[in-house]
Amino acid sequence: MNISAAKEKIQEKGFLDIEIDAHLDIFAEIERLKKEKNAIILAHYYQEPDIQDVADYIGDSLGLAQKARETDASIIVFAGVHFMAETAKILNPSKKVLLPDLKAGCSLADSAPAGPFKAFRDKHPDHIVISYINCTAEIKALSDIICTSGNAEKIIESVPKDQPIIFAPDKNLGAYLAKKTGREMVLWNGACMVHEIFSLEKITKLKVRHPQAKIIAHPECEEAVLAVADYIGSTTQLLKYSQTDSSKEYIVATETGILHQMQQASPDKTFIPAPPNNNCACNDCPHMKLNTLEKLYLCMMYEQPEIHMDETLRLAAKKPMDRMLEISKAAGLIG
Ligand code: SF4
Repeated sequence: MNISAAKEKIQEKGFLDIEIDAHLDIFAEIERLKKEKNAIILAHYYQEPDIQDVADYIGDSLGLAQKARETDASIIVFAGVHFMAETAKILNPSKKVLLPDLKAGCSLADSAPAGPFKAFRDKHPDHIVISYINCTAEIKALSDIICTSGNAEKIIESVPKDQPIIFAPDKNLGAYLAKKTGREMVLWNGACMVHEIFSLEKITKLKVRHPQAKIIAHPECEEAVLAVADYIGSTTQLLKYSQTDSSKEYIVATETGILHQMQQASPDKTFIPAPPNNNCACNDCPHMKLNTLEKLYLCMMYEQPEIHMDETLRLAAKKPMDRMLEISKAAGLIG
């Protein structure tokens, strides 16, 4: 497809469908474009290894949000899913924010549509709404404070004990946090398709074959999986734990992209992806994996697809994000 035809089809396809010369050194080209355009690549841990290797910063939602807010680059190339690129735009509206594939969505964000969520919130007018960052700008705008899996406990603790709370959109994370903090919370019934399908049976069998391995899990997993975990934490916390803990083997119950960083940081350790409840051996997020190195290169080259946002919506969504960053800073979670 030629460039103008590819641009016309971008909404339909989600990305620029342009053939790339097979001899092109895409890694070198991306480095050249970064300098030429003063662009920064922010990548989530769940991106494919090639993308992680060209990124200027790799992190989870909290770290990425902070980087997006602070960067003085002119262009933010966001290698992640749509709500993450939206978050970057909310925090840094003067920057051009690019996403390699507009269709890189999120089943968890999709599980909370704005209309029904507003009706749910309106049924509990005395409740404060804490929403996990994995939600759309519309849900952020309907929330009082945003949280990530790395700061959620501190965010909940910052709310007075007699103040009732709605937690959205992830019911598994919400149930885990309710147990951890001792706070009763009204939960929105949403879930992540990746973290919900880990098979307890297969994990248990793996543990029998690897008795020394520690099970480490993300709190978006179901309660039964969390119950057998030796350590539960956000993606960044899991990565740190795998570096500082003395074990040599880990069964990792989260998206498999993080194994690349774990293995790089601890080459002498073994990381085994926890198997899902289907025929696959590991659990990839199909949305995250829509981004490819080729799409990343094309979006940097032609500066499309770009994230645009209505200013009223942006300002409403920014308020609970700012609140989260303030609380995280006061708690010493970010610099
Ligand atoms: S892993 Fe789950 S929460 Fe993360 S982007 Fe994929 S579907 Fe959404």
